[in-house]
Amino acid sequence: MNKIFKRNFIRNDKKNLLLFGFKNHNEEPSEQIQINEIPKPHMRWNPARQEWVTYSSERKNRTSFPPKEYCPLCPGKDLDFPTEIPFSDFEIAVFPNRWPSFNSNAEKINLEKLETKASKGCCEVVVYASEHTNTIAEMPLERIELLTHVWVDRYKELMKMDEVKYVLPFENRGKECGVTLHHPHGQIYAYPFIPPVISKELEAFKNENFIMKIIDELEDKYFVYKNENFIAAIPPFARYAYEVWIIPKKQFPGPWQFGLKEIKDFAECLQNVVKGYDRFLGRKCPYIMGLHASPFFEDNKFHFHVEFYPPLRHGDKPKILAGSESLAGVFIMDVLPEDSAKELRYFFNDNN
Ligand SMILES: [Zn+2]
Repeated sequence: MNKIFKRNFIRNDKKNLLLFGFKNHNEEPSEQIQINEIPKPHMRWNPARQEWVTYSSERKNRTSFPPKEYCPLCPGKDLDFPTEIPFSDFEIAVFPNRWPSFNSNAEKINLEKLETKASKGCCEVVVYASEHTNTIAEMPLERIELLTHVWVDRYKELMKMDEVKYVLPFENRGKECGVTLHHPHGQIYAYPFIPPVISKELEAFKNENFIMKIIDELEDKYFVYKNENFIAAIPPFARYAYEVWIIPKKQFPGPWQFGLKEIKDFAECLQNVVKGYDRFLGRKCPYIMGLHASPFFEDNKFHFHVEFYPPLRHGDKPKILAGSESLAGVFIMDVLPEDSAKELRYFFNDNN
């Protein structure tokens, strides 16, 4: 494993632009984006759902933000407009989202008869490559290993912050998942509370490790890809036809406990899943992908895993979260996970 360099470049708004790479980054910056307004998001308690909703209505005053035909995530030095990354090249870049749903400037607003809170925390953007088209399926394996190291770095830094209670790295891919910027990137949300989905998982793992309980079945019947340390499988209780989880064969609370061999196998598995999806659909497969780690560095119960939800049913047909799913939280499935696993397995193993 090569040494990893991390450059902390201080932007004109005093926030950090982090540049991670196997090469030392020491280029002089070009012109930077000028932003005047710092959003102050807030949360309101939804008493019916018993959950927080966060509101951020400021997306005005985007002075000197690149026009539509320019990608704000491409390296800016050789363009006519400043972008988020004022250099001519980089490997992986991480910076605070300029219109975050959670940030340190958040302020509580007072609403009579409603519980409110400041949306403290932070939202970061992770740009995977300087190339506009390199997704996880196309980039070299070393880059995905680097990305895993970047996620670990962000977990360690963000989980240390007092106002942060949970860190979620995720990626939305494709216009079906609401993506407007096609430059390969993911996001990291650092929440000021443990989100409801994670609270439930924490509780579940505290009672029993439901992953280890079915690990043999995952490996034999539900897998779509596997290597020495990881299984990619459609869980027998999946809510989407092509939902895939990447699961370490041993319990880890988060990727911060991976050794170098696990990081290598994890990167390989991640790439094979994305490549497999793309081969299966014959185009870039849309998905929502996120890392579910424990909120605690030390945790011998929570079993880290990655969840992929492609918004599809039966091949290319879109899955809409309709009446039962949206109104009652009950998913209606017309295909069995064991059958979808068989269908996907062929495409996930590079034999066609
Ligand atoms: Zn771009």
